[in-house]
Amino acid sequence: MLTGGCLCGEVRYELDGKVSPIWLCHCSKCRRATGSAFHASTVCQPDDFSWLSGADRLTVYEDTPGYRRCFCGRCGSPVPIYLEQFGLMFIPAGGLEGDPGRTVNHHIFVASKAPWYEITDDHPQFDEHKPRSG
Ligand SMILES: [Zn+2]
Ligand SMILES: [Zn+2]
Repeated sequence: MLTGGCLCGEVRYELDGKVSPIWLCHCSKCRRATGSAFHASTVCQPDDFSWLSGADRLTVYEDTPGYRRCFCGRCGSPVPIYLEQFGLMFIPAGGLEGDPGRTVNHHIFVASKAPWYEITDDHPQFDEHKPRSG
């Protein structure tokens, strides 16, 4: 069982199951939404996910269709959101506690990466979305 939460502690959630490998998105929206060089994300099956507390604090912001963010209405931390178009629960990896058993395995939207950040690992890099395999 994995748990996670926001900075103020009002929003808490748990995951009973595997998360995907983590990817780092360098797009300008993710950089603005996090105030950082990239957004570290993973996904899980919605059936494996449950809110423990703070569901009434959730605030959703939709920037463009398909780019929706959920955050704690009190402290502003990014928190998970269900993405209908993928049928998956999208999880900000930084909110997870403990070891999810997964590590970063690729970078996306590297073409819009911050000029002040240099990628120094050897994981695959994609200019935009990772191409679907198969
Ligand atoms: Zn909070
Ligand atoms: Zn992004």
